[in-house]
Amino acid sequence: MNPRFQHIYNTLPAGLVAPFKSVFDGNSFKGILTPSQFESLKQASSLDEQQLKVTLLPFAAAYSIAPISNFNVGAIVKGDSGSFYFGANLEFIGAQLGQTVHAEQSAISHAWMQGETGVQDITINFSPCGHCRQFMNELSTARTLQVQLPERDEMSLQAYLPESFGPQDLGIETALMTPINHGYQFSQEDELIRHAVIALNKSHAPYTNNHSGLTIRVASGELFSGSYAENAAFNPSLPPLQVALVQMQMAGLEFTEIQEIALAEMEQGSISHLADTQSTIEAINPDIPIQYVAID
Ligand SMILES: [Zn+2]
Repeated sequence: MNPRFQHIYNTLPAGLVAPFKSVFDGNSFKGILTPSQFESLKQASSLDEQQLKVTLLPFAAAYSIAPISNFNVGAIVKGDSGSFYFGANLEFIGAQLGQTVHAEQSAISHAWMQGETGVQDITINFSPCGHCRQFMNELSTARTLQVQLPERDEMSLQAYLPESFGPQDLGIETALMTPINHGYQFSQEDELIRHAVIALNKSHAPYTNNHSGLTIRVASGELFSGSYAENAAFNPSLPPLQVALVQMQMAGLEFTEIQEIALAEMEQGSISHLADTQSTIEAINPDIPIQYVAID
């Protein structure tokens, strides 16, 4: 049994425990439900899609790392492929609050790094804060995205964010999660740097052109990458370190397993992630080595 979920089973109707355990207690569960897994839970539970997503929220919130607020938020997004991605909030003791990741940002960046090119809807256990409404307004699906809360009717993001400010106000036509390859290369054989550059090439940074990516190597040798997700309102932007940490968090790994990090960004960008990456890593574990490359 996965101890992360144990407390949730006590709250489920008895008939749901076995089918939910069959999905969530395997070692292969990484915070993602395939369309067929979701369909099997729907059949077993006799819940409709919205009811099932709300029922699944505690499983997403079980990934929350909130040592400052002790406020556990879970989010689930449905990607264009039909798969569902969990997200949860992430706070850092010892770093500044701007480094925090909200559950909505977590679920969206989780889906993005798994290759999704848009999200159709998002289900959250609390009303989305203003920061997240703005973050979601950057998405390729911002005009059509639906937001579902427990005990509420589904509403569009645009209903949650009337008279919004967005990329178009700054003359930007690209959107977060739109497939892109910036095509930058770096002539170094190092595997970690090579993956950071792959992540850089997927990043959404139309305001600063500081395309950037970061890759984490964990003790098992597995790699987790994050691309930078910039926002028209600047502050809700999600740095590449945070996106990579979300991938680890949602795969169920502890940050104590981080062995090494590589950050790649543009030499000519109008901003840099280096100092913030260093200070947040310092808060996690000051002994983690950081490789850094600037691409021209
Ligand atoms: Zn938020």
